[in-house]
Amino acid sequence: MEMPHTPATVLVVDDAPSNLTILTESLRSEFDVRIATSGAEALRLVCEVPPDLILLDILMPEMDGYEVCRRLKATPSTRHIPVIFLTAKGDVADETLGLAIGAVDYIVKPVSIPIVQARVRTHVELKRRGDILETLSMRDGLTGIANRRRFDDTLERSWRQALRHASPLSLIMADIDHFKAYNDTYGHMAGDECLRSVARTLADTLKRPGDLAARYGGEEFAIVLEDTTLAGAAHLAEDMRQAVFALGMPHQGSGVSDVVTLTLGVATAIPRPGQLPQSLLGMADRKLYEAKMAGRNRVLAATVL
Ligand code: GH3
Ligand code: MG
Ligand code: MG
Repeated sequence: MEMPHTPATVLVVDDAPSNLTILTESLRSEFDVRIATSGAEALRLVCEVPPDLILLDILMPEMDGYEVCRRLKATPSTRHIPVIFLTAKGDVADETLGLAIGAVDYIVKPVSIPIVQARVRTHVELKRRGDILETLSMRDGLTGIANRRRFDDTLERSWRQALRHASPLSLIMADIDHFKAYNDTYGHMAGDECLRSVARTLADTLKRPGDLAARYGGEEFAIVLEDTTLAGAAHLAEDMRQAVFALGMPHQGSGVSDVVTLTLGVATAIPRPGQLPQSLLGMADRKLYEAKMAGRNRVLAATVL
């Protein structure tokens, strides 16, 4: 995977304009520097454009740096952003507290510019490596779409959200027909290429940000559709079936068609307390099995009651 070429974003938070000027000047040749003059403004900016690192003053009116850091560390989406305290508070107790609430580093003012630059560089580099590992751990190596782990995370999260909003959550399980025969006929390299084409086609069919297509395993794919009714999900599944058929990938050993085809099972639930996301998976899997038994290259759908 390629390293990102865009400069890392560093947010500098300080209530004193002169500090902001000095820090901005010393970092702007290497980083995309943003500034905030209060804790509240910093929290707002972090939500809008999450920076790669935050340089945080402690003594500020209204909300101090400790509180800003605590809030960032208590929020899942901002927890991973490294925070460096940059402060006039030089006591061991202050520094200990700063590190205890989750800062990666602590620099006492007056600062040495080269030291600030070096520490920022180090922590930005570590953060970016962490981001790459995080991305890789969620992606299927062969097809490039989401992997099973990402699917499991997403299903759990989407289920909880649907439960809160009493909204429908849909799941599509899609399986390539007679894929063992495809490998036997055309070889594993062609099989891998086929999996990539199918994965891309499924992902391209999705349009909403709350949709996720993942490789569930082998030649099986799972698609999570937030806030989607059974009719909507079945329609999308049929679009997917037709899109894969339209690829026209020859499949001599299929027995169903002379091109690669997909069988899909669809399930929808409006989650209730005590119910588990496994019930949705179970139903989609059952519909997939029934659609296979009914002749493959088709969609079957049902609601989880
Ligand atoms: P059905 O129509 O009932 O789904 O039959 P099938 O042959 O597709 O299903 P089966 O589960 O019997 O075989 C799945 C095959 O998928 C077996 C395996 O060789 C192949 N397969 C699984 N993962 C990969 C992969 O990463 N690359 C390749 N080339 N083949 C794979
Ligand atoms: Mg199959
Ligand atoms: Mg299978």
